[in-house]
Amino acid sequence: MHTAVFLDRDGTINEEMGYLNHIDRFMLIPGAVAAIRSINESGLKAVVVTNQSGVARGYFPKELIDQVHQKMSGLLEEGGAFLDGIYTCTHAPPSKGKSGGCGCRKPKIGLMKQAAQELNLDLEKSYVVGDRFKDVEMARNAGAKAILVLTGYGKGEIEFLGPSSKVQVDFVAKNLEEAVKWILADTKGQTERAKGQRKPQRSQRAQRKANVEMAEIDRLSNRIIGLAIETHRQLGPGLLESAYQQSLAYELSKNNIPFELEKKIPVTYKLVNIDCAYRADMVVDNKILLELKSVDRLLPIHKAQVLTYLKLSGLKLGMLINFNVTLLRRGIRRIIL
Ligand SMILES: [Mg+2]
Repeated sequence: MHTAVFLDRDGTINEEMGYLNHIDRFMLIPGAVAAIRSINESGLKAVVVTNQSGVARGYFPKELIDQVHQKMSGLLEEGGAFLDGIYTCTHAPPSKGKSGGCGCRKPKIGLMKQAAQELNLDLEKSYVVGDRFKDVEMARNAGAKAILVLTGYGKGEIEFLGPSSKVQVDFVAKNLEEAVKWILADTKGQTERAKGQRKPQRSQRAQRKANVEMAEIDRLSNRIIGLAIETHRQLGPGLLESAYQQSLAYELSKNNIPFELEKKIPVTYKLVNIDCAYRADMVVDNKILLELKSVDRLLPIHKAQVLTYLKLSGLKLGMLINFNVTLLRRGIRRIIL
């Protein structure tokens, strides 16, 4: 979807002349061509939305509007600029005090919606530039940002209608050129803000996932400790490692906890897999590495061995279990990489 700059015509692109009832009365506001050219160069769509009720009022024929738009497009083209679309409402406003009328006269958003459909525009990311509060109101109705220019009716609107206006302007610009500069800076800010927002969202999701995984591993390690204590209670201290290993395996199987005994740990050296015959005593549910010992006391080298196994296997949690103790809890170390 594209972002558009919706431009009012009279008083914004060309000088406000009251009813533009003759082609000779069409004159561009200085800087308008350059402003539209920068919209074009930025990749945003430049779309004119204009009320021309002079047709319904019988002040000039519809053909004059086509002539004026041809002239406008020609002058823009000479300056290397173009419009992606021109949308016109030729209807009369609803009679005073009555609602209704067409759905396309500003501040209604019929024309913006039509443009959005035909040009694949995202109205909520788009901008409206105009010299009247009607333009501002249309922007608000469509969820777009509003820039009021001080050309055309702009100064009077701000001075006399501004204080009582129900709708807020996002920016007041001296003219279209200044308005476009503000818009281009704002879109840049939007992109950066969006990037900035996306990153933490992604890392928050990743963090939540990691937390859930860690909580699962934590629960699993508590179950292993419970079963190791049960094994120790049955066997007592001082037996061979292999006896504990087989008995603990029996407890794990009985509790439907998957595990692998003597799991090979591959070593990659200079991109080559080397079989060093390293084996972890047990890997439980592909998550926790167990190193069983039956020693007088655990030494730093035992912890270093588990850390090496963790690094090589890509697992995060290891448990060092020394069965040769009176109280097994004292013989268990949890080692986190
Ligand atoms: Mg206007």
